[in-house]
Amino acid sequence: MLIVQKFGGTSVGDLDRIANVAKRVARTRDEGHDVIVVVSAMSGETNKLIEYAHFFSKTPQREAMDLLLSSGERVTSALLSIALNEMGYKAVAMTGRQAGIFTDKSYTSARIDRIDPAPMGNAIKEGRIVVVAGFQGIDPDGRVTTLGRGGSDLTAVAIAGAMGADLCEIYTDVDGVYTTDPRIEPKAKKMDQISYDEMLELASLGAKVLQNRSVELAKKMGVNLVTRSSFNDNPGTLITKEENIMEKPLVSGIALDKNQSRVSLKGVEDRPGIASEIFNALAEESVNVDMIVQTIGADGKTEIDFTVPQSEIERVKGVMERFRESIGEIEYKEDVAKVSIVGVGMKSHSGVAAKAFTTMAKENINIEMISTSEIKISMVIDEKYAELAVRALHEAYELDK
Ligand code: ASP
Ligand code: MG
Repeated sequence: MLIVQKFGGTSVGDLDRIANVAKRVARTRDEGHDVIVVVSAMSGETNKLIEYAHFFSKTPQREAMDLLLSSGERVTSALLSIALNEMGYKAVAMTGRQAGIFTDKSYTSARIDRIDPAPMGNAIKEGRIVVVAGFQGIDPDGRVTTLGRGGSDLTAVAIAGAMGADLCEIYTDVDGVYTTDPRIEPKAKKMDQISYDEMLELASLGAKVLQNRSVELAKKMGVNLVTRSSFNDNPGTLITKEENIMEKPLVSGIALDKNQSRVSLKGVEDRPGIASEIFNALAEESVNVDMIVQTIGADGKTEIDFTVPQSEIERVKGVMERFRESIGEIEYKEDVAKVSIVGVGMKSHSGVAAKAFTTMAKENINIEMISTSEIKISMVIDEKYAELAVRALHEAYELDK
């Protein structure tokens, strides 16, 4: 098999940890696999480099910034390669450019355009372990670019896709993806498998194990992703195509987003164009509107409710001032939470939503807004009850079993 192994900042946080990573890579090699390793900078290193730049300028030149930031990952790739060679393995370190990673010119947040499989492929044919500096590439003018914070995951997934790897393992300091946040529900279980779409829903809702961009790319390229810990031998969580998932649980996980506020517009003029005016005005102020619910109008008036991140509520208030004429009453509730139930199994089963509502009723929690998609049911509730709701739902769907 060809396996891509990516090690994040904490996994390569000091020299002893890099030595441990070398042992793990060596073990994979000993099992007879070809290995491409992608590394992050040692933890804290990228932040330190950014601080250095800010010593001189608040708006550092972006091309220089990318040259600077890319150096963190180069250090770890070279050190890991040195460690592996010392252990008797043939390893070669490569920068993004040497690995044939071509990007656009958006310095500090570049997109990977293509990967030339030849440099890494040739090294593998020679029996080498390839150690690539993550988070970087080269633009059409030959300048170094970086992919945006956390971009090493993206490097690993893109390489796995371009090289046709069988597996892309992302090593971090957590064991994998959990049925809910274990800090809220200690009975949360690590999942063995989950589909790309479920992972995307859970990630955007706060289960931050993997960058969403990386999961999206893995889905697009059909890369089998595994997230696991570099500090133990637990197998981790496989993120793959829905077809590959053997037993499809009704519900896979419960996500919580406490950073939500609700805005209720009552007595809104019920006429074509009103929603367009309101939401365009919000978009112009870069407000991230999430859930939107409009009720059927009566007597020429309607009600529109929506949620926004708590930190953007002041901006929303500013925008809404402009609509005084066309809206009867505006109510803001700053402390609400969004609880979401995610699972591919609900596509083919009835009663999943009813169970969620019954669970809330039993706990005497009022549901303020509801929205659903094919694989998700989201409820907006008072933030006070957020943890209680998560625990009750976790139990109701037997996720602790
Ligand atoms: N070192 C970069 C960062 O801290 C990229 C990464 O670790 O994925 O954002
Ligand atoms: Mg990371």
